[in-house]
Amino acid sequence: MTALQQAADTASAAAFARAQQVIPGGVNSPVRAFRSVGGTPRFIARAQGPYLYDLDGHELVDLICSWGPMLLGHAHPEVIGAVTAAAQHGTSYGAPTTAEVDLAAAIVERTPVEMVRLVNSGTEATMSVLRLARGITGRDKIVKFAGCYHGHVDALLASAGSGVATLAIPGTPGVTEATTADTIVVEYNDRAAVREAFATYGDQIACLISEAACGNMGVVPPGEEDGVGFNRFLADLCHEHGALFISDEVMTGFRVTASGQFGIDGVEPDLMTFGKVMGGGFPAAAFGGRAELMHSLAPVGGVYQAGTLSGNPVATAAGLTTLRLATPEVYAHVDRAAALLQREVAAALSAAGVPHVIQAAGNLFSVFFVGEDVDAVADYATASTQVTTRYAAFFHSMLDSGVYLPPSAYEGWFLSSAHDDAALDRVVSALPAAAAAAAG
Ligand code: PLP
Repeated sequence: MTALQQAADTASAAAFARAQQVIPGGVNSPVRAFRSVGGTPRFIARAQGPYLYDLDGHELVDLICSWGPMLLGHAHPEVIGAVTAAAQHGTSYGAPTTAEVDLAAAIVERTPVEMVRLVNSGTEATMSVLRLARGITGRDKIVKFAGCYHGHVDALLASAGSGVATLAIPGTPGVTEATTADTIVVEYNDRAAVREAFATYGDQIACLISEAACGNMGVVPPGEEDGVGFNRFLADLCHEHGALFISDEVMTGFRVTASGQFGIDGVEPDLMTFGKVMGGGFPAAAFGGRAELMHSLAPVGGVYQAGTLSGNPVATAAGLTTLRLATPEVYAHVDRAAALLQREVAAALSAAGVPHVIQAAGNLFSVFFVGEDVDAVADYATASTQVTTRYAAFFHSMLDSGVYLPPSAYEGWFLSSAHDDAALDRVVSALPAAAAAAAG
């Protein structure tokens, strides 16, 4: 019996079959469906610390951490306590609370923004921040990078038509050409292409939005040239042309350092977006910036933005408690665990003769199964040269050994302060077989 036939007999497979009757593709976010690695997605029954438990009772070391939020691991007792206490006081008021102010203040304390507006998802944050930037500047065009994901905002679901500055074509059916007509897409880390975009459209560009360090094409950090980091370069170029520089820290914020990528390169954007860790596993996100810019938002200014559940008391309790518990020790632990896994993955793949590149932004890292000729991945064009069949073989071998990796070669690996020696040892001991499978 093949592994796939065996999988068909599992409780996860039965749940997946039922799910596909009522949910498109059986999932509520496409990558969960295992389409790019094949096989049946595991349905999760519960999670604790560094482990997920699927419907069939398998214990899996979780290296996704809900795609970032679970910095403290799953079901942290203090987070659960805060959430339970908040829920007992009612779950939504549609009126202000002091806890929302505390969460906003906690974000302001850790980052360069002076004010934030709370929303429910990273997508909402980037959608709203674009409207704000356009409202402030009175300009229409926006610049984004190929391979940077900012949620499923129509104007940001666009891909480049060629290697240099181009007007974007829609990246998915349902997004109209008119919606992306004002989106300019360039390759990440390509300074000449960004300069060209601004030289051509400079006085029409409202803003440039970039992941603070890319985590959605695999991890591609901002590159350095002549001692100037890419984010510094972007901020300066935006300001020369009267445009706003927006740093999307939804993935990196409060994860790669106590503030995010800002804690690594210190570049102050005009506007920022946050999500994931700041919601502690609940739907909460934010966008923020200098007070003078944020005052353009309703009810102070004219740019409208709102939300029935924004600043939800249960989500706020989870986020605030997570940020309070995210001590320097937490980051030191996650940094050490990430460094250890990068070393061990590199050693296992090298021993099996599998060409690869491992890249990190702080403690967020990913493994690219690129050809031998590639020694660094600076952009999406290079990331796309990955031999994804190698990753699929690697992924399934790890899963068989009880390690849950992202089911896509284009995602970062996430760790938490709950990943202790036992969990890390399980990952490390699974690596030689997975590397051999990738070599396959
Ligand atoms: N921005 C970045 C950098 C992200 O990684 C994501 C999600 O992965 C988003 C925005 C969208 O966030 P959400 O999925 O909460 O809408």
